[in-house]
Amino acid sequence: MSYFVDENGYYGQFGGAYIPEMLYPNVEELRQNYLKIMQEDSFKKEFDELLKEYVGRPTPLYFAKRLSEKYNTKIYLKREDLCHTGAHKVNNTIGQILMAKKLGKNRIIAETGAGQHGVATATVCALMGIECVVYMGEIDIARQAPNVARMKMLGATVVPALSGSRTLKDATNEAIRDWINNPVDTHYIIGSVVGPHPYPDMVAKFQSVISEEIKWQLKEKEGKENPDYVVACVGGGSNAAGAFYHYLDEKEVGLIAVEAAGLGVDSGESAATSVLGNEGVIHGSKTLLMQTKDGQIIEPYSISAGLDYPGVGPLHAHLCESKRAEFISITDDEAMQAGLELCELEGIIPAIESSHALAVFKQKEFKKDDVVVLNLSGRGDKDLNTYIKYFKL
Ligand SMILES: *Cc1c(COP(=O)(O)O)cnc(C)c1O
Repeated sequence: MSYFVDENGYYGQFGGAYIPEMLYPNVEELRQNYLKIMQEDSFKKEFDELLKEYVGRPTPLYFAKRLSEKYNTKIYLKREDLCHTGAHKVNNTIGQILMAKKLGKNRIIAETGAGQHGVATATVCALMGIECVVYMGEIDIARQAPNVARMKMLGATVVPALSGSRTLKDATNEAIRDWINNPVDTHYIIGSVVGPHPYPDMVAKFQSVISEEIKWQLKEKEGKENPDYVVACVGGGSNAAGAFYHYLDEKEVGLIAVEAAGLGVDSGESAATSVLGNEGVIHGSKTLLMQTKDGQIIEPYSISAGLDYPGVGPLHAHLCESKRAEFISITDDEAMQAGLELCELEGIIPAIESSHALAVFKQKEFKKDDVVVLNLSGRGDKDLNTYIKYFKL
């Protein structure tokens, strides 16, 4: 069994490109060109250079001594929180802006929920001097004001989605409508390993720099490339895909995907797709998603805006179904406590998404000699208000 995408865009039974006919030419242009472009020397050179000089890669693989002592195992943190813009998302937007340029596109669109992907997209558009339009639900615009301000400072136009629940899925619909109307000059930057083929594979490949670095960094520190476990949180699944990528076929490496349970898996306020979801189509791909009996998407809930997504990418649906990865669910409370613990033990304030991954150590016991690499997907600056409210700081 392979965990990589097949030539039709499937991971096992999941994936594909379930799109309206009018979108077909856009997606097909990308599908026919993305691998070829990614293999060009000029593309690789510019991508690597920007990751180094602009994003600040390689990010450290940090041995967390006090955290390791507390849980009696060897814990390394992959410091994606130290990337420019504060999270892993920029690895993907750098890749896609270069892809857009190679395809001759001079206009970028994106959708965003919490605003993190919108900011990462606006950032690379400013860097390249390319027009940027970000669709965002009207409700999200109101509750994510700082990220809206960031996007505007970076020169992007933020367009409110006024239909439906006025959140992420409605913003996605608007972005798709825009792309259908502007097929020639516009590239749509999707922010996670979701959407129709080839997006999940393309985004996973851009993020795979994370596990590429972990391999040589761990070799330097432990004398071996493979840890016993890699742990990452999963919203759509891009940081986890990047951290898992070069280990997918290494069976001795345990993969642990951490989802947001919100107020509890059975509370009705949750985002634990692997438990609550079943097969369906969302954003153009067949995957696991939270839906009603009639196939309507159920609004997810998590204290963490980045994990508040009703599906997972098709790679993760396959990793879950095939049991290659172990999926665990972490509640708001468990994540917040784990985040605070990292502050106190290591002097690192994590994003609340990453705090979910950190809570693995309360739920699962590791052996003393186990090497556990945890992908610290982002830093907590953006979450300060949530931390302040929760801990009454
Ligand atoms: C967006 C985000 C996530 C969730 O997205 P994935 O595609 O699942 O990685 C996780 N952590 C941080 C810091 C984020 O900004």
